[in-house]
Amino acid sequence: MRKDIEIVGGGITGLTAGLYCKKRGIEYKIIEKEEENGGILRDWKVNGDWYYRNCQYLSAREEWFKLWPGEEFDIFTVKYGSYTDIWDIASISIEFAGPVYPNRIKKKKITNNEQESLAQRLDIYPEEISEGLTKWVNKLGFDTHEIHSSNSISLQISRILPTKDIDYIKELKKRERLADTIYGLSRKELGIGPDIGALPKNGYNQLFKKIGKELNIKNSTNYRNYANCQKESETKTDIIWTGNPTPLINNISDSRMNSPATKAKNVLIKIDKSIILEPFYIQVYAKNTNITRIFCYLNKITIEAINEMEDKNRIAWEARNILEKFSINIGKSIEVYEKREIRHFIISRMDYKVIKKFLIESENTALIPAAWHEYSRDSKINGIIKMVKSRHCV
Ligand SMILES: Cc1cc2nc3c(=O)[nH]c(=O)nc-3n(C[C@H](O)[C@H](O)[C@H](O)COP(=O)(O)OP(=O)(O)OC[C@H]3O[C@@H](n4cnc5c(N)ncnc54)[C@H](O)[C@@H]3O)c2cc1C
Repeated sequence: MRKDIEIVGGGITGLTAGLYCKKRGIEYKIIEKEEENGGILRDWKVNGDWYYRNCQYLSAREEWFKLWPGEEFDIFTVKYGSYTDIWDIASISIEFAGPVYPNRIKKKKITNNEQESLAQRLDIYPEEISEGLTKWVNKLGFDTHEIHSSNSISLQISRILPTKDIDYIKELKKRERLADTIYGLSRKELGIGPDIGALPKNGYNQLFKKIGKELNIKNSTNYRNYANCQKESETKTDIIWTGNPTPLINNISDSRMNSPATKAKNVLIKIDKSIILEPFYIQVYAKNTNITRIFCYLNKITIEAINEMEDKNRIAWEARNILEKFSINIGKSIEVYEKREIRHFIISRMDYKVIKKFLIESENTALIPAAWHEYSRDSKINGIIKMVKSRHCV
């Protein structure tokens, strides 16, 4: 029996799923619980202007991105760097967006240990490296023993670059598979070309509004009870759940989710319109500032920081100092704003298992779930499209 599809959530995942269904002629309906679509990509609106909420660009090379209207985007070569001072000597890189280790590596036998918790993963490094990273993760408010090892990706600490041992690392990465997963090299050293990014020309909100209209999205707080949606395999409708998985899983399974959230502060800076910045982001791993990332674009800067109580002008000043190390002089900031948000981007060890179990239980049911255990936009969207493709033979 040919089924139609109900898509829960009008964020990037739900809208992409809608664009796919529309293109393939599958009957679909998108339900969004907020008045406006867009979810976590919605821009901040202040003083009649918009700012990207975080450093959130789309990967233009992804197949799913081709479902979106290309003319709405600025396409650019992704450029980034990092600032690290968690090992005392401050280091910058303009080619690597992860922690830079400035000392010689103390050689340590790399053993294939258990990697369930982040603590176990960090233990693979020599002690000094592991200690610096652990303290930094603790400062963000997370216990490395309680969170899953895969968070090394969302925290952008999955690989570190030891600048004094590049030749040794090159050779070690060839020889030891595990070393290859914890040490990084710049794309240039690896001989890989740059990544290609995409940002909507006039911010995400206007694009989501336009696409939402085209997809005939329903904004409704009155959504149905999903308690039984896994069981509805005999019904005519498949349900794609793109939203936060907590209520769904808590409702259906006997496990309770417990991943930690962070109270973050974003500081938004508008600079003189004569200075136009190319999209560029800097990952920050520092002892003396709460900044974790700085994203420059157009004549704007979005700074992500973890301490919601810190003064916005101090954060702006610290960001300015870091930017100067990258020869980015933003001149006099004209406007500085702040926005607080609660961010969910970390997965606990327990939730990792709960979600994986839930995904197995959902096979052959009416539910099309997302790969929430990976916390990755691309794998979430690709996974959903793959499932729709195979179930609907399109
Ligand atoms: C408490 C909590 C836990 C989370 N846990 C995870 C996790 O374990 N793994 C993970 O990858 N991400 C998690 N997230 C982040 C994020 O919500 C999900 O990743 C979501 O799948 C992302 O969907 P999206 O990519 O479209 O982004 P989003 O931008 O988040 O879009 C989701 C959209 O769905 C809407 N929505 C949510 N629920 C409903 C509903 N019941 N009915 C209608 N509309 C709805 C939202 O308003 C939003 O517009 C969590 C978020 C929260 C708040």
